[in-house]
Amino acid sequence: MLWMRIKYRLGLLYKTVLFKLGFGKLLLKDRYGERILIYHGIDAVGETKYNSRFISKVFFEEFIKHITTHYNVISLDDFYQKKFKKDTLNIALTFDDGYLNNYKYAVPILEKYKVPASFYITTIHEKAPYLWADFLDLVSYHTEKKEVILEQNRYQKNDKKEFIWNGTSMKNSAKSLPYDVLKTIYEVFKDDWKVLPTEDLEDYWKLMNAEQIKEIANNPLFTIGAHGETHANLVDIPLSAAKKEILNSKKQLETICEQPITEFAFPFGYYNQELADYCTEVGYDRLLLVDYNTKKDAQNETWQNRFVMNPYISMEQQLACLLKGSYF
Ligand SMILES: [Zn+2]
Repeated sequence: MLWMRIKYRLGLLYKTVLFKLGFGKLLLKDRYGERILIYHGIDAVGETKYNSRFISKVFFEEFIKHITTHYNVISLDDFYQKKFKKDTLNIALTFDDGYLNNYKYAVPILEKYKVPASFYITTIHEKAPYLWADFLDLVSYHTEKKEVILEQNRYQKNDKKEFIWNGTSMKNSAKSLPYDVLKTIYEVFKDDWKVLPTEDLEDYWKLMNAEQIKEIANNPLFTIGAHGETHANLVDIPLSAAKKEILNSKKQLETICEQPITEFAFPFGYYNQELADYCTEVGYDRLLLVDYNTKKDAQNETWQNRFVMNPYISMEQQLACLLKGSYF
């Protein structure tokens, strides 16, 4: 982990120096191949203090303008059918989690540049109005609490405004908890949530409602896929609970969209063979990951890895990493 972080930092430093010295073009030389990008939230200003997943609408538009001008941006459908151009980079866009901010900011920009995209929706709506991770990010940042107990472990707030126990953040531990336990996080911080200016902060937690999801599903530029119900790490929760998430999110989205849902993006990209087989069994024919677990997995044509967009770096650095296909 530490070595990866050092490698990432050194890679960025190297790129910054090259751009400063005027040799940045070397990093932006054309590379061919294919990439599926993952976005999460788009917001008005590119605020990263709550979490590391939000990219400003201005930066987003600049990026879309650039890639549509210089590369071949295609739908995921065409990507799976390998309708690639040989002499350029082929790019498909995906959005995970199902934020309202996708509908508010990304959709109009994608329509303006006629860029296809696929949206993977977490169907938590029947259980809670927000994802636990966003709830936790916002309350952790604002709460006066210095210590919180979860599953008998005492988490203490650090100066980065995260709750830490035994070297692990509550957010990280929570990924692997069954939803019944996760609910206690909502309970512990419910008064903190009440005093937050949640409407002003809606870009950081509000999810699309059924009407908005359906509208996207009916737009010929876009497709909808599933992303589980509670955004748990499906590999770590009990198998029966993971299977329920995979099946229920499909059924719920099929009811909303009135069309078959055949794509599934694993929350956090965590997957294994057993879960992938179950996805196939219930009718998903495209499985979206982040990184392949093994090199062999890359040969499975149902599975595609994806490149996570990074809000902390400049457009030039982002492009350099994208062209390379890696942040390292
Ligand atoms: Zn997600």
